[in-house]
Amino acid sequence: MDNASHILTPPAEPRIFGFYLDGDWIASGDRQVFERASPAHGVPVTRIPKCTEDDLNAAVASARVAFEDRRWSGLSGTEHAAVLLNAAALIRERSEEIAYFETLENGKPIAQSRGEVDGAASICEYAAGAARSLHGDTFNNLGDKMLGLVTREPIGVVGLITPWNFPFFILAERVPFILASGCTIVAKPSEVTSATTLMMAEILTEAGLPDGVFNVVTGSGSEIGQALIEHDDIDMVSFTGSTAVGRRLLQAATGNFKRLGLELGGKNPQIVFADADLEDAADGVAFGICFNTGQCCVSGSRLLVERSVASQFETLLTERLSRVKIGDPLDPQTQVGAITTPAQNETIVRHLEGGPKEGARIVCGGGVLITERGQFIQPTVFADVTPDMALAREEIFGPVLTMQSFDTDEEAVAMANDTEYGLAASIWTKNIDRAVATMRRVQAGRVWVNTTITGGPEMPIGGFKQSGWGRETGIYGVEEYTQVKSVHIELGKRTHWIS
Ligand code: NDP
Repeated sequence: MDNASHILTPPAEPRIFGFYLDGDWIASGDRQVFERASPAHGVPVTRIPKCTEDDLNAAVASARVAFEDRRWSGLSGTEHAAVLLNAAALIRERSEEIAYFETLENGKPIAQSRGEVDGAASICEYAAGAARSLHGDTFNNLGDKMLGLVTREPIGVVGLITPWNFPFFILAERVPFILASGCTIVAKPSEVTSATTLMMAEILTEAGLPDGVFNVVTGSGSEIGQALIEHDDIDMVSFTGSTAVGRRLLQAATGNFKRLGLELGGKNPQIVFADADLEDAADGVAFGICFNTGQCCVSGSRLLVERSVASQFETLLTERLSRVKIGDPLDPQTQVGAITTPAQNETIVRHLEGGPKEGARIVCGGGVLITERGQFIQPTVFADVTPDMALAREEIFGPVLTMQSFDTDEEAVAMANDTEYGLAASIWTKNIDRAVATMRRVQAGRVWVNTTITGGPEMPIGGFKQSGWGRETGIYGVEEYTQVKSVHIELGKRTHWIS
């Protein structure tokens, strides 16, 4: 049977994981454990240890030794690339297993998990090239007696905190680049989705990564995550998650002035002009809010549509949304799976209930789907939304779209920028002048024109405003984990200061 038609079932027993230290598994032993239930099936699927502070200290020490003795940073770009290419091949070999556990823990459709795992392998391949092309600069214009070099050096030990919405893909957008820079890593995945990060650790060791370069501690964010961001022997933290925890990081970083890479929230506009291909735009807007159940930092959650086509667009969009397949994420035909955590489900339901009280009108959806076990929410569109409403301002992180109308290009840009966030934006128009002018004025780290939520490892991603600091992927994604050293080399006999 092929993947496109075969429906998998959850495991009879949860899979038991240890954590990963110095190239080896450590069993949970007498530590507390966290049992993760599938948000779509309600049955336990994985069990992971709750690491202690001693475990964290051991992981940081392992990453520190591995960094200082140069077992990784001292290798050539070619050697780094070889490990990353091996890792890509192993990810492809284990893709079914990774995708299965990604779906079980996260609730996302299996077809999407498969695509993300394939994408992760492709990112490793790209980063292998980046490892070989990472370079600094030279100044050959300082006169015959001086040569200036600017070298890029790895920052050191990176603490990597990843969220539950794309556990494997977000990991893959960071780890290969951090490794390409020569740094070592202590990763802390979200407690609810740790399995595939632990699999990555095993894969990297098998791919030839020296022991101690990639370590994984597991447990909750408020305990082990907080201890990690406060740790004085970590040189940089790369964090993806909520703006609230991002703020905590700013405080925690003051201890040793650690560097921060922050990828935070978004309230991303979808600007639809009257001259767009409205069929394409409706399909893109539907995808942009349904993909990953709207639990993406780049979800297109604010529809801004030119007033003259607003009613026509509403009809096109709602017709499409009525055909989206919601249900068992292990069914390869499913397009919208389960909401990943009960807390996230509550947040979305609060907005579904609060919207009408604020005066917004539900155009379609609005329902929580009652199933025997999982938590599922219908894609929902709210119209009559005003800029002051919580619906329009807060990151809902669910399949909930707000709709507002504009009359002029100026107004469209002003509405798009009327948010504390600045992660992504999509522009739909067939007029190239308008597309470019709007792109230039929209405050967002990533802009799509006549498409949405797409891209590969070549292009950087990251936020303007309160959506974060720094960039991931592309050559920027490697440079992010380096620091620059300038070197002056004097040639020939020195002109003496003391004659
Ligand atoms: P969090 O920011 O709490 O979680 C993101 C990651 O940070 C997880 O690995 C979490 O671990 C960890 N974490 C939590 N608290 C701390 C801490 N004090 N110190 C260090 N690490 C910590 O997000 P939530 O899961 O609470 O989701 C809330 C909202 O955040 C969502 O509704 C959404 O708006 C936004 N969000 C944005 C994401 C993005 O991609 N930009 C991703 C996830 C959420 P653990 O899960 O084990 O607690």
